[in-house]
Amino acid sequence: MLEVSRNENIEIMSYAEVKEVKGYVGNYEICIEKKPRYITDDCNGCGACTEVCPIYIPNYFDEYLGARKAIDIAFGQAVPFLYDIDRNSCVECFSCVEECELDAIDFSQIPEEKQIEVGSIIIATGWDIYEPYDEYGYGKFENVINQAQLERMLAPNGPLGGHVRRVSDEKEPKEIVFIQCVGSRDKERTYCSGVCCMLALKNAKLLKEEFPDAEITICYIDMRTNEKGFEEYYQHAKESNIRLIRGKVGEFEENNDTKDIKLRVYSSLTDEIININADLVILSTAALPSKGTAQIADVLNLDVDKNGFLTESHFGLMPQETNTKGIFIAGFAQGPKDIAYSVSQSRAAASKVAEMTSAGQIDLELIVAEVDEDRCIICHRCVKECPKGAIKLEEGVKATVDEINCDG
Ligand code: SF4
Ligand code: SF4
Ligand code: SF4
Repeated sequence: MLEVSRNENIEIMSYAEVKEVKGYVGNYEICIEKKPRYITDDCNGCGACTEVCPIYIPNYFDEYLGARKAIDIAFGQAVPFLYDIDRNSCVECFSCVEECELDAIDFSQIPEEKQIEVGSIIIATGWDIYEPYDEYGYGKFENVINQAQLERMLAPNGPLGGHVRRVSDEKEPKEIVFIQCVGSRDKERTYCSGVCCMLALKNAKLLKEEFPDAEITICYIDMRTNEKGFEEYYQHAKESNIRLIRGKVGEFEENNDTKDIKLRVYSSLTDEIININADLVILSTAALPSKGTAQIADVLNLDVDKNGFLTESHFGLMPQETNTKGIFIAGFAQGPKDIAYSVSQSRAAASKVAEMTSAGQIDLELIVAEVDEDRCIICHRCVKECPKGAIKLEEGVKATVDEINCDG
């Protein structure tokens, strides 16, 4: 992140939203709305305002396990390093304004629009985590958390300084259970989220290092460790005394006094029912396309698949391209993938952009469709059918073909 911020050819516009995109490859005009932080660029990040602010709120960056102030920075390594005010919780006491020696707090800021011109676009909207509120007591039983919350507990810059504790009483856990495929590979989301088997193995190993005497169990359907070196990692986890049970968890209830979780799982490998009294349960919940993915698909008129991921031009041969020339995808925006695959796809997308930019021109198809204006009855059928989004139809006007996007 720091390297990106230091690169003079990269401008970062954080806390901003793409509102409208017009044009075509080589000539896109983008309208971006920058949201107000209520802090000006004069801020030097001294943090004096945060110290005097009386309002604490749950910190979204720490998955709501820690707190931040109404005026604060998301996290210590944020790039750009800019404070912001959460106006929904600010009580307008203006102590921060009095404390700031640089007069960098400006409550009069409003959203600003900025127009930029670009040749091509790469969409890397990432992913959101599925919140299974109706399953496994999530959101109801205090000691049931998800992998993202566990990651924040394990992080040295997290709310617990890298130490995992039960949420109910902050005690060290002694019997930890991971439950895999929560919300993935079911009727609603048929896909495998791709990353949670390795995530569970990695975090189980870290927990075993922190609590060598703890009993750690992973309940799974299939252990998917099919990338380079992953199977060896899996074998090593087994040798580290991590119990792996192939089976779905059935009965699941909380003890009102201890806040432990009593659960029952049928092991399909040993054909037995196993009862566990867990004091911390971690759910490997499904990865979802981020909320911004649907929004950007709408703005750019791109297709999404039945699960909401952006549709690539060709799954095998052009996974980083969309059906619109000059618009590329990278990472989870296209579908679940791990970091190594995301990096490869990002580099492939960047190479495609560089190839186009350095050539300074693009090849167009010789054969493109045209509209016979005398016969077009403005039925909109062609607009719906065109896989390249190359036909424009304005209200009451005959269809027109965009010769740059049409591939005949
Ligand atoms: Fe410091 Fe003012 Fe920036 Fe707050 S807004 S961090 S007080 S410079
Ligand atoms: Fe905190 Fe708002 Fe008061 Fe500033 S004005 S100190 S942000 S509550
Ligand atoms: Fe289930 Fe593993 Fe796929 Fe995640 S990666 S959905 S835990 S099989």
